[in-house]
Amino acid sequence: HKQHRSQARLQPANGGARMRRRAEVAVVGAGAAGLAAARELLREGHAVSVFEKSGRAGGTWAYDPRTDAADPASPGATVHSSLYASLRTNLPRELMGFSGFPMAGRVFAGDARAFPGHREVLAFLDAFAEESGVLKRVRLRAEVLRVAPLGQRQGERWAVAWRGEDGEVSEEVFDAVVVCNGHCTVPLVPKIRGIDKWRGKQMHSHNYRVPEPFLDQCVVVVGLGASGIDIAVEISHVAKEVHIAARYSEDRLGKIELYQNVWMHVEIDCIEDDGQVRFADGSALAADTILYCTGYRYHFPFLDLDELTVDDNRVGPLYKHVFPPKYAPNLSFVGLPSKTIMFQALELESKWVAAALSGRATLPSEEAMTAAVKEDYRRMEEAGRPKRHTHALWPQWVEYMDWLADQVGEPHLEARRREVYERAIKCIWSLDDRYRDQREEEEERNGGDCAL
Ligand code: FAD
Repeated sequence: HKQHRSQARLQPANGGARMRRRAEVAVVGAGAAGLAAARELLREGHAVSVFEKSGRAGGTWAYDPRTDAADPASPGATVHSSLYASLRTNLPRELMGFSGFPMAGRVFAGDARAFPGHREVLAFLDAFAEESGVLKRVRLRAEVLRVAPLGQRQGERWAVAWRGEDGEVSEEVFDAVVVCNGHCTVPLVPKIRGIDKWRGKQMHSHNYRVPEPFLDQCVVVVGLGASGIDIAVEISHVAKEVHIAARYSEDRLGKIELYQNVWMHVEIDCIEDDGQVRFADGSALAADTILYCTGYRYHFPFLDLDELTVDDNRVGPLYKHVFPPKYAPNLSFVGLPSKTIMFQALELESKWVAAALSGRATLPSEEAMTAAVKEDYRRMEEAGRPKRHTHALWPQWVEYMDWLADQVGEPHLEARRREVYERAIKCIWSLDDRYRDQREEEEERNGGDCAL
């Protein structure tokens, strides 16, 4: 398989006619994105300070048994992680490593399975932070409160106000800020018509930890993403009935053959006067709980910039999901896109940010970036895609990965990784939760290798 390698827009990695700039960079957040960004920034020769509000690195992967207020409409979230106790990765471990630091073929917390539990991923991230030298740059219990440019020109420096463990607020100035605060914390809850007539329980998957509270209940799960599918199947083992309500479910409505007590419906139309849940096809049922597995809102409470908004979950304007044209390259976002190989995307974005800051990668002019963003929005509109899907890359995810690779002189996505990812997505969608273990069995049969 011949790898494509492009050097467009890129200066030679070492030497070359141009001097590399060394920037003082603040990274907000020490999850997978912040750790990957810090490693690439250090490799490029920048000075890095990572601010992490919690007491450890790892972000989402640090399971937290606590939950937030049950009211799904409550605005904030104080518990960061949305993991449930039983969570196993939905991508096989070979898609969850970083270059030079794979997860495949190694065991970090005693869980060698192809689709390991969350503790294994957290231990992997701990080892990555330690061995890459990033951990030393992480300031724990340091919450960023405000990030603001010192002036209005491009290339401006940035003031970062943060609160330390002792409660004291300090301010420091950096050349650049990379925002990696995570995007699976603040629930996105659709407003259901007539919800004021609902007398049962409501919760968002952000607050789902274990299935036991749903014992003998009739539960309506809203949404058919990776979490919705996992959770629906898990609670079906204790609940009386599970009804999934989802868009794009037309081709498999009715009872799911694999399970005794799981049904698929079209989306919810409203709550009727008698409190029943009514679906868009006119059918209705009485239920105990509505469980929203409807995703999360992008939220940047520490950023207050007129030019940057979150509109119907579109963070914009952002050139290729990373740079706001007005402030590029000194303000950037790593980890916004979804529906791709997350860790690989984070790493490529991080390399691009590091190279743009050093001057090794050249960005287009502010006007050209703005025009490119507008063109992307126009194409989305033309294709009838809602704003809220702006950062969901599927089905154009390979295009984005290869485009990023071109910016930093990395090879294009390997055909095998593409296949493995696309097959993993199919497995998730099959609603058959045995896919994770079937992979194990398949590997054993094939002497350590298998098609997925
Ligand atoms: P996070 O991991 O959320 O990290 C953000 C960090 O920023 C946190 O540590 C937070 O404390 C910190 N922070 C936030 N605000 C501030 C502030 N103001 N100041 C200082 N620090 C701050 N991905 C996969 O690849 N495979 C999977 O199988 C998979 N399963 C998932 C299952 C669930 C239920 C969820 C919710 C996500 C899953 N993901 C999966 C996606 C996962 O979010 C990404 O893999 C990745 O961990 C995201 O990393 P991040 O650094 O962007 O965000």
